[in-house]
Amino acid sequence: MTNIFIVVIALVAFFLIIQKYIIGSSKNDEYVYRSKKSVQTSSETAFFNALKTALGDKGVALAKPNMTTVLTPAPTKTKKKWAAAVNKIARYHFDFVVCDPRTMEVRCVIAFDDGQPLDKSKVEREKLLIKLCKQANIPLIGASVKHSYQVGRLKRLLATHIDLIEPDKEVRFCKKCGSPMVIKLANQGEFKGRRFFTCSRQPMCTYTENYNVVFDEEA
Ligand SMILES: [Zn+2]
Repeated sequence: MTNIFIVVIALVAFFLIIQKYIIGSSKNDEYVYRSKKSVQTSSETAFFNALKTALGDKGVALAKPNMTTVLTPAPTKTKKKWAAAVNKIARYHFDFVVCDPRTMEVRCVIAFDDGQPLDKSKVEREKLLIKLCKQANIPLIGASVKHSYQVGRLKRLLATHIDLIEPDKEVRFCKKCGSPMVIKLANQGEFKGRRFFTCSRQPMCTYTENYNVVFDEEA
């Protein structure tokens, strides 16, 4: 009996000491924070400015929103699982997100390439980005810091996914028959809502061309 009593006393003393020195000390251990001054790097700022210029009032650009601002997990069996799903993406952000100015509905996500080499964690993040955008059915655009100096090209890139943006008139001629091409909006299929070029002689000539310039790298 006395043994149990001693053990209880020892345990109580132990927990009191733990509380005082470990938990108690962390309460006093206040961290100090500083302003990062600018919230973006200079290349991010250059691109952000170009993005805002390209969008005009046709889109609202968000810089570095947390993934949980844009995505929410699909229903799960338990609340615990749902919280785990939220936590999984909570430490990541998107580079830029473009929203419809009228409703703030997400129109597309932009993965920004600042020209720096990719390290392992960046590659991991990129893979996750591609997977999540595909699941959530959000168009993902790969944009480069080069677009900061080519607003026209950036605008064309965005116009593929955002029908509000009127791209600068671009004249193309059919590679099959030489007739002028016209821009149309796909109203069905995998590319629904996206623009493409089609021969003006349709249905005589069925040649079409991708409007997308993502991978159209010029020398
Ligand atoms: Zn043609």
